[in-house]
Amino acid sequence: MQQKDYFFSSKKLTCYFNADFSYLEKLVTKYNAVIITDENIVLHHSEKFSGWKTIIIKPGEQHKSQDTFNYIIRELIKVKADRETFIIGVGGGVVTDISGYAASVFMRGVKFCFVPTTILAMVDASVGGKNGIDVGLYKNLVGTTRQPEFLLFDYAFLQSLPDNQWTNGFAEIIKHACIKDKDLFENLEKNSLTFFKSSTKNIDALIKRNVELKCNVVVNDEYETGERKLLNFGHTLGHAVENIYELPHGNAVSIGMVTACNISEKINDFKSTYKDRVIHLLKKYNLPVDLKFDRNKVWEVLLMDKKKSGDTINFILLNAIGEGIVKPIPLHQLKDLINLCYNKS
Ligand code: NAD
Repeated sequence: MQQKDYFFSSKKLTCYFNADFSYLEKLVTKYNAVIITDENIVLHHSEKFSGWKTIIIKPGEQHKSQDTFNYIIRELIKVKADRETFIIGVGGGVVTDISGYAASVFMRGVKFCFVPTTILAMVDASVGGKNGIDVGLYKNLVGTTRQPEFLLFDYAFLQSLPDNQWTNGFAEIIKHACIKDKDLFENLEKNSLTFFKSSTKNIDALIKRNVELKCNVVVNDEYETGERKLLNFGHTLGHAVENIYELPHGNAVSIGMVTACNISEKINDFKSTYKDRVIHLLKKYNLPVDLKFDRNKVWEVLLMDKKKSGDTINFILLNAIGEGIVKPIPLHQLKDLINLCYNKS
């Protein structure tokens, strides 16, 4: 196990990499803790939860909702949770987002931590303190920014992770590489999913590097006034298509990144050879690079994006591989650009 601390403006976050789930008992008082997890994780790892109070939610993005939130609060009341209760979110991004949100507002906030169980949650969703729920088609419309006490990475959970969820998580890894880390991009080009799946050493190194990258961004800009916006690369169109077409988050982000590369090429002199490399890399990790969608419907959802400010939207473009920038784009221009990208394809 390796321990690393990150100092955000609001608090310190400790990461326990390559740790065993049982180590939790050294970090929290078991009788005072409540685990929130989902049915799939319990199906594969029930032995890990023995002796813990557990709230089990239904899996899937459609359950990152107010109804599930209400269910969690009612279950917390049932187990007589109080202000000393410590909430442990064990799961993918749906579980970490909703349990972080529940912990942030239950009794005006109790302590919490995460044990991420998907690649996507390990490299992204559990890191950085953003939490929340969807409202219908609108992603993460309600939520808070509040940091967990710690993250515990037990790679044994990955043994049951389906292939399509490995792929899904690599979208956020490729996103990190595109906006901030050319060496990581080249490393991903050189290697393959099989390589990263083949040993704990390989996946541990990749996860640490991505957690480090995201934490460094959050250390400098916890409340997203500047650099943190870069992490939204691929997420404007991605979020708009995700719930309409019921796409896994990473698949939606992959499509969003291709659109952002196309727009970068048109208005930001991003070289077409770079764009080709991004598309090639996404395909290499089995991610989708195109989608036929209803432009009006997608545009309506996109207009509720949290990055919109008045008549412009802070869109993330690339200057080069490993170098993202935030560019305010007027909405009417963005609509034309998206139409242009999808007329061509
Ligand atoms: P998810 O939580 O829906 O997990 C994907 C599927 O894998 C689910 O069916 C789940 O039950 C199953 N699963 C999870 N762990 C498993 C395991 N070890 N073995 C077998 N099955 C397992 O989805 P996700 O891709 O992890 O996360 C996507 C969510 O994360 C989206 O809601 C997205 O908005 C959110 N997100 C949040 C942030 C943030 O900063 N808060 C960042 C990125 C994404």
